[in-house]
Amino acid sequence: MDISIVVPLFNEDESLPELFNWIKRVATSHNLSYEVIFVNDGSTDRSWEVIEELQKENPDTVHGIKFRRNYGKSPALYCGFKAAQGNVVITMDADLQDSPDEIPELYRMITEDGYDLVSGYKMNRSKGDPLSKTIPTKLFNATARQVSGIHNLHDFNCGLKAYRKDVVKNIEVYGEMHRYIPYLAKNAGFANIGEKRVRHQARKFGKSKFMGLNRFVNGYLDLLSLWFLTNFGLKPMHVFGFIGTLMFFIGFLSVMVVGGTKLYCLAKGIPHPLVTDSPYFYIALTMMILGTQLFVAGFLGELVSRNAPERNNYQIEKEI
Ligand code: UDP
Ligand code: MG
Repeated sequence: MDISIVVPLFNEDESLPELFNWIKRVATSHNLSYEVIFVNDGSTDRSWEVIEELQKENPDTVHGIKFRRNYGKSPALYCGFKAAQGNVVITMDADLQDSPDEIPELYRMITEDGYDLVSGYKMNRSKGDPLSKTIPTKLFNATARQVSGIHNLHDFNCGLKAYRKDVVKNIEVYGEMHRYIPYLAKNAGFANIGEKRVRHQARKFGKSKFMGLNRFVNGYLDLLSLWFLTNFGLKPMHVFGFIGTLMFFIGFLSVMVVGGTKLYCLAKGIPHPLVTDSPYFYIALTMMILGTQLFVAGFLGELVSRNAPERNNYQIEKEI
């Protein structure tokens, strides 16, 4: 099979038939064998019924995975990736904002140009989306570029992306990590990451599932934890232990100053201030306590990372 198209969706029943027929038209006209995997992320509208109808009419090309509840876009992608069989896997939002017309060129870039991953870069953004969405997105992308070191990507969060099959089978998307799949791929050793400008339209039906400040706060927190995990995930002691040692050392020096002065004054019989009057006393106290705490955190981190439980475990109600 040439292409698996993975579509995560949450309450998008109105878009699905049009989306599927469009994909079908494009794929058949380019002679590409394909499957479409709809991952229904706990929709409360008629999305699943629509998927079932599409599956009946197209038993060979339509697959559906139905979550028992809403888990989020990343878990939906994770399960879609697990099921995908095509040599190239393409993810696409269900809301018709991404155009299936881009599929053949994305496929060509993976199979002929040798990219491991090609990310879409949404053009005409300002026409399709409000400013309150585009400006924070610019900031977000600049940070993501810096942290991940993938400097040629302008649009990390584009739902339209194409992957060599190996990539999706070897990365683990969880939490809200769908925004950083290129970073995950790079960490897994897939360094050939490209970008393609893609058309982008305003939402036709329904409304956006990611709104408000939350989106950006969570986005940055995820980036921070991903950065941390990438650098120290398997060796938390290296970061906690280092800071802990440093603090303990500062604390120890302060103790020497406080204690030394006191002993010196006592021995010489000169009048001496109370140790609690010295700022070093407080520095010693906090630093030594914090240092010890960080050490313990480092050990705990090591224990946890060594016995990490299964992370991606979702309730799947039905698969067709
Ligand atoms: N989505 C999902 N689970 C969720 C939220 C969203 O599967 O909990 C899907 C949604 O149905 C759509 C895609 O993720 O297919 C992108 O969502 P949306 O279009 O709302 O995001 P935006 O384009 O506004 O960033
Ligand atoms: Mg959208």
